[in-house]
Amino acid sequence: MMPTTTRAFGAPMTYIQGPGEFNNLEAYSRAFSGKVFFLIDNFLFPDFSRRVEEIYKDTESSCVCEQCRGECSRSEIFRVAELIKKSGAGLVVGVGGGKTIDVAKMAANELSLPYFITPTSASTDAPVSCIAVIYTDSGEHAGVASLKRAAEIVLMDSEIIAKAPLRLFRAGMADALATWFEAQTRERSDTPNNIGKGYRRCKAGMAIAKLSFELLMEDGLKALQALENGVITEAVENIIETNTLLSGLGFQNTGCSVAHAIHAGLAELPQTHSYMHGEKVAFGIVCGFIFENMPKEIVDTVMRFMTAAGLPVTLKDLNVEPTRENAFKIADKVVNRNKTIYAEPLVITVDTVLAAVLAANALGEAYQKGKA
Ligand SMILES: [Zn+2]
Repeated sequence: MMPTTTRAFGAPMTYIQGPGEFNNLEAYSRAFSGKVFFLIDNFLFPDFSRRVEEIYKDTESSCVCEQCRGECSRSEIFRVAELIKKSGAGLVVGVGGGKTIDVAKMAANELSLPYFITPTSASTDAPVSCIAVIYTDSGEHAGVASLKRAAEIVLMDSEIIAKAPLRLFRAGMADALATWFEAQTRERSDTPNNIGKGYRRCKAGMAIAKLSFELLMEDGLKALQALENGVITEAVENIIETNTLLSGLGFQNTGCSVAHAIHAGLAELPQTHSYMHGEKVAFGIVCGFIFENMPKEIVDTVMRFMTAAGLPVTLKDLNVEPTRENAFKIADKVVNRNKTIYAEPLVITVDTVLAAVLAANALGEAYQKGKA
């Protein structure tokens, strides 16, 4: 229980989403003084640096493009911060996936500079949050850092998002699907949210988390169908907003619980390393249904949605054999070396979590075989 009744809500200054919006970056960056420093994903660097240089050519603004080398580690943050300092930039723009975005956020924060975030996929809800995940240089999880300031602009270009592999979009849907269930848990246990040092949830955070769930149920499958056919529809725009803005504001302003705790447990198994954040969270949602013994109707609605969307609902879907030994490894991490599960106002032991993992796997198998 929290020692305060103070509630808080945090968000980026501005969120912009639409086809072709990337081309307007120069216009948006004019409000800031100095050069614009672009930190671009390694893998996307040739395409996007060319595109950025084209946008800034023949304008009064100037820009510099640098590659992110990969992990959001202390050494990479320091290296990028030094490059920004040397460039004399007054604004930082992160372009790419989660790690590049986090390095850009952290380096800008080191220098107390304003920053924009321009994700190239809708694969997680991290872009709008004031949190960065820190890794060691060898890629091991090393903690979560809270940022001093929010992004000036989070910009989603729907055309760029639609061209990213569908697997990323699908994983983002799973990350967003966890938000409302986890928010309700945090409300039940009255545990602090992810704003600053942690406050009580504003009603706004809960309302936004709920809307992410409603939009996924309404438009999630329609959006996947449209993207499979290479088109952007209103449903696609709604789910880009859901995966990024709504789920991001939802989780930051309410908090995570069992689905993300199971994600951390799964990440202990090397065979899951090639799976995305949202894919592990997807199976975590199924575990949450068992752990919290959720009502049958809601479980049925969501399991049908997840199987239709092609999201992982079993251990096998994540390349993990459904053995007691593997379930123990997951549960041990969840209970003994991770704090997230303790947002659950329930009995938390290795046995209760292990039981949830194995029963969730059986539930997922039943739905996949049409026997539920
Ligand atoms: Zn997440």
